[in-house]
Amino acid sequence: MSKKHLILPWTLVVLLSFGIAALLFLYQDQKNNVQQTSSSSSVSSTNTQSSVSSDVSSIAPSSSSSEDQTPEQALQSDIELAAAQTQLMTSISIKSSRLENETSYVVPSTGKYVYLTFDDGPSENTPGVLEILKKNKIKATFFVVYNKNKEYYRQIVEDGQTLALHTYTHDYKKVYSSVNDYFSDLDKISDYVKEAAGIDSRIVRLPGGSSNTISRHYCKGVMTSVTEELQKRGYSYYDWNAQCLDATTENITASQILKNVKSFTEINGVQKPYIMLLLHNASTETATKDALQSIIDYYRSLGYQFEAITPDTPAVHMTLQN
Ligand SMILES: [Zn+2]
Repeated sequence: MSKKHLILPWTLVVLLSFGIAALLFLYQDQKNNVQQTSSSSSVSSTNTQSSVSSDVSSIAPSSSSSEDQTPEQALQSDIELAAAQTQLMTSISIKSSRLENETSYVVPSTGKYVYLTFDDGPSENTPGVLEILKKNKIKATFFVVYNKNKEYYRQIVEDGQTLALHTYTHDYKKVYSSVNDYFSDLDKISDYVKEAAGIDSRIVRLPGGSSNTISRHYCKGVMTSVTEELQKRGYSYYDWNAQCLDATTENITASQILKNVKSFTEINGVQKPYIMLLLHNASTETATKDALQSIIDYYRSLGYQFEAITPDTPAVHMTLQN
């Protein structure tokens, strides 16, 4: 065949190939567009759902499920709620100092402060904790319950530590059945502390914190009424903005406690300038005593100043949920 004869079929082949390629390209492009649209809409809907549900869980958790829970389950979700709220407050404190004042605590204009607070003691762990505090020349706060050994209370006061009130029984059912039940329990521990150590304390921490929801099982609105009444009667109550999870983690070790303390103190490398740290001092909380020196060393290395709560200490309040 001559060259002239070859040009026409080859041109047809080339044109046909381009045509097929162009059609294939258009088809593929359209298919991709459809896929992208559907996948992006599914991503955004997932995002919306997860952010809404996490907001709901941090702001109004266990509100729908709490009715079906046993008190033990409710206590667990209560503890989780407290942890979630502490985190929530943490993120607020980093975002805006104005919000902090409104919702939780006052940030000092200069310096960094840590308040070590021990709940649920005194116990056989108290002398060891007092020893470490004395050795380090540090003041802390003990929110106490009933213990038959009055010597522990005396020793806390003699060492110049703050002796404050937690509850007599620490029995949620008794304490949160009504406002009267709460105050009869508070009066009992208050009288006992007076008798044991000669102190008339007006500094209080509520079992489960003021934001606890387990109290709903016993009396709706009791936390709101109790906190109002506390202030009317001249008491100041204190929650916390950091914790070590010693009372809520089974068989926790001293190193885990320190790790938890760090995670509540430094968020994305930013240190909170004001730490109200929840620790426990019941007879079971030996790991907390074992971790104490490392906790002190940690805060010292970051330049924190140690403080005990006094009647002048500004409030640290969580948002009431009941
Ligand atoms: Zn407690």
